[in-house]
Amino acid sequence: MHVHLVNPSDLSFGTAVITPRWLYVLAGATPARWGDPVISDETLERFEPATLHPGDVIGIGIHTANALRGYEIGRLARERGAFVVFGGIHASLYPEEAHQYGRAHSVVKGDGDLVWSTVLADCHAGTPQPLYDGGKIDGGAFVSARWDLLPADRYMWGSVQTVRGCPKHCSFCSVWRTDGQQPRQRGVAEVVREIVELRRLGFRFIALADDNFYPVTLEDLRQAARRRDSGRLDELTATRQQRLELMAALARLPEDLVFFTQITMEAAEDPAFLEAMHRARIRGALVGIESVTSDGLKAVHKTFNAAGDALVDRLQAFRERGIHVLGSFIFGLPTDTPDTFRATAELAQRAGVSFAQFVTLTPFPGTTDFARWEREGSSGEVDGVPLTRYWLVPPARRPKIYAPHPQMSAEEIRQRTQHTWDAFYRLRLIWQRSTCVRSWRGRLAFLLISKLYRQMYANTGIATDSARVARSTRWARWLARPCRRLFMAAPMPHLEVPSPT
Ligand code: SF4
Repeated sequence: MHVHLVNPSDLSFGTAVITPRWLYVLAGATPARWGDPVISDETLERFEPATLHPGDVIGIGIHTANALRGYEIGRLARERGAFVVFGGIHASLYPEEAHQYGRAHSVVKGDGDLVWSTVLADCHAGTPQPLYDGGKIDGGAFVSARWDLLPADRYMWGSVQTVRGCPKHCSFCSVWRTDGQQPRQRGVAEVVREIVELRRLGFRFIALADDNFYPVTLEDLRQAARRRDSGRLDELTATRQQRLELMAALARLPEDLVFFTQITMEAAEDPAFLEAMHRARIRGALVGIESVTSDGLKAVHKTFNAAGDALVDRLQAFRERGIHVLGSFIFGLPTDTPDTFRATAELAQRAGVSFAQFVTLTPFPGTTDFARWEREGSSGEVDGVPLTRYWLVPPARRPKIYAPHPQMSAEEIRQRTQHTWDAFYRLRLIWQRSTCVRSWRGRLAFLLISKLYRQMYANTGIATDSARVARSTRWARWLARPCRRLFMAAPMPHLEVPSPT
């Protein structure tokens, strides 16, 4: 019995930016008796079903956007006699769908780290169960990734997870429901060991692939103190302390390492935390800004964010500590008007955001936005598929789904969003923003990465024109190779794990 792990994708770029961590974690969770899993990441190349043999097990991880391609792989695998197992956020939300469309033998809900070995043993015995619940395991039980299985010369950045779960409850996000609101932190030693392993292989840039790198805010601590809730205060203080210890450990790693993470804006009001990030060489952070107005923030239950000039100040606080911000903005909120698009792009430029992504408010399964949209009865169908199951429509015919807007049509929102991407990533503005790095090589890298980012995410994500998508995929393939060389460093095969103090 061989184990295969597949990350489905409709588009393949030959080179990818971030290592898809789940593949290598499940490889780490595969008991040695089954040998090394065969890993296939379709963001690089198409999966080859001929590699499957009767009795093999194939694990397919899906989120909403790649679910349909995942189901196609499941059917192909079943025809070849393999045991088909689905996991990931989408399969956890719709296990029956993976059975119906993906011909699954089994679906794993929740964390796969611990339950995966049971699934494999059951398949081997010929008794796979229709559903396994992996639950939400403690941070100490997270399995480390098998980076020794990475293909050479394909990825630009390594990825390491330090915490799962997020205490917030943004209406457009499913993380707090699927990964829980209780932050589950991994041990510092395990995190450091994985980073050292990646640096040995030549990775200098590491994404800290966390839901929210800043799970305890100063305001959380103040509230617990005001309530005289000493138990809660101790718990929050311990969580924060562990974050600071992790960053102190990162600061002791080789100096050429650079980290990137996802964080809430509140960290900008915590000078000690920003300073620790700076010392740990966390040089970039994706910050969910979402909207530049307070009404927009209210609409997505994100009132802890700042708006207007206060927002500019917060974003500049990151920049002053040498942390480049990738600002994430959402268009199509009920409070947006046609003016919002230009105002957002201008604010992003004024606040010194290094990179930006502009996404449209889309009801994603597992979110409260989706539940409301489905409840309020979004009508319509495409090829017999109701719009509330839009991910089951083939990509070429799949409509772009937006939350209904009181003033603008879906097409107007899409076009204005596309224009905002085009305006923000104009060559002249990218070159202006590239002054945030000093060397010419650094500025060139900044320019290439900006262009690559826009090709990979804007043109392939929101364009409806298939010629534009195909052109962008070709561009991204072409740009990705030189970009990768800019990010990699000479391997350090003898790098030691630093002592814990
Ligand atoms: S958007 Fe970010 S802050 Fe909001 S719930 Fe999701 S992970 Fe947490």
